[in-house]
Amino acid sequence: MRLDANVLRYLSKTDFRVLTAVEMGMKNHEVVPVPLIESIAKVKRAGIYKILQELLKHKLLAHDRKKYDGFKLTYLGYDFLALRALVHRGHIVGVGRRIGVGKESDIHLCVTGDGTVVCLKLHRLGRVSFRSIKRNRDYLQSRQSASWMYLSRLAAVKEFAYMKALHDNGFPVPQPIDTNRHAILMSFVQGYPMAQIRELRHPHAVLERLMQLIVRFAQSGLIHGDFNEFNVLIDNEENITVIDFPQIVPTTHLNAEMYFARDVDCIKTLFFRKFGIQVAEAPTFHEVVPPEELEELRRLTTREGRRGVMHANPLEADDEQLLSDVLAATRPDGDQSDEHSLSSRDLRSTEVGEELHPDEDGDGEEEDLPETDHRDSASPTPPFFDLHTWQ
Ligand code: ADP
Ligand code: MG
Repeated sequence: MRLDANVLRYLSKTDFRVLTAVEMGMKNHEVVPVPLIESIAKVKRAGIYKILQELLKHKLLAHDRKKYDGFKLTYLGYDFLALRALVHRGHIVGVGRRIGVGKESDIHLCVTGDGTVVCLKLHRLGRVSFRSIKRNRDYLQSRQSASWMYLSRLAAVKEFAYMKALHDNGFPVPQPIDTNRHAILMSFVQGYPMAQIRELRHPHAVLERLMQLIVRFAQSGLIHGDFNEFNVLIDNEENITVIDFPQIVPTTHLNAEMYFARDVDCIKTLFFRKFGIQVAEAPTFHEVVPPEELEELRRLTTREGRRGVMHANPLEADDEQLLSDVLAATRPDGDQSDEHSLSSRDLRSTEVGEELHPDEDGDGEEEDLPETDHRDSASPTPPFFDLHTWQ
């Protein structure tokens, strides 16, 4: 998201109505023709072109003439719609700089009415095509037009639900505040990703806590699935917070044992590489979730009335499968572990998939996407662009 204070501030109600109309039109049109925008937004013909030009200039919309003449929402336009909803709901009054960027998300600081700094995660799925994921092609046919928006929203829905369940159960995760479209608003964690840490006062204690956390996840029926050095934040007191949940799987998953071992290995490797610590005894999946217990859990998941952290994911099975396929395909190492997933190498070699939204701001040029995520700095610094005119 490129934030321009003037654009943010001076977008009128009508501009937003037109933006929303394009969003609605995209539910069943890849590109939304002007007459349709006009009728959904209920804006007179004389005014609509001027507004569309303005939205185009600010890169909230893209003009597409490939199949027929029409407009589509850019990620930036989608960001603005989510931001505005969060302003309307009274959660934030300003938005600040981008502090983190991942393969699948952008992280911005925001500020609440009482001056508290909070964190906004904007999901950015669809940077890698899922048209290439053959298994889902038929299923996706009807959703092709809204593909990247649809996927990013699924990621946000799932992530928010798990963050809430984990937080409610005392796990060290950010406090979830609200979600809208592809965005999640959560507390800002004071701390740095482990990736940026060179020294720890008590490395053995931190290691122990991280392993215990992986075990506690599994005892609650979950595996984080991406327990890497960018997803573990640590503060000056060496308290840890774990983030990033769209890829969580239940311990009843067919490949749960592998996912568990991969999370454990991530931490083992990290501590060996950074602090020279050899882990002699690491927890194993079967120790933590004995086979009899797993049987019982599997039986439970087939019954109605499922509750608890493990069952927080509200996605339908088809959507869950779609999301996990796409996330697996975008993993830098290419996740070959899941029988359903394809590695990124497979993606390149099997079919040339259309990049769904590499051109994030709709200016016709592909953005330079980072290979890995990084955090620019841990200290939240102003300025925040004031969004009170949207209220
Ligand atoms: P991705 O799914 O793209 O990996 P993450 O949720 O891991 O996104 O966030 C990317 C980066 O943004 C993290 O590595 C971290 O540095 C920063 N970040 C994310 N959430 C928070 C938060 N609540 N507080 C502070 N920093 C955060
Ligand atoms: Mg991450």
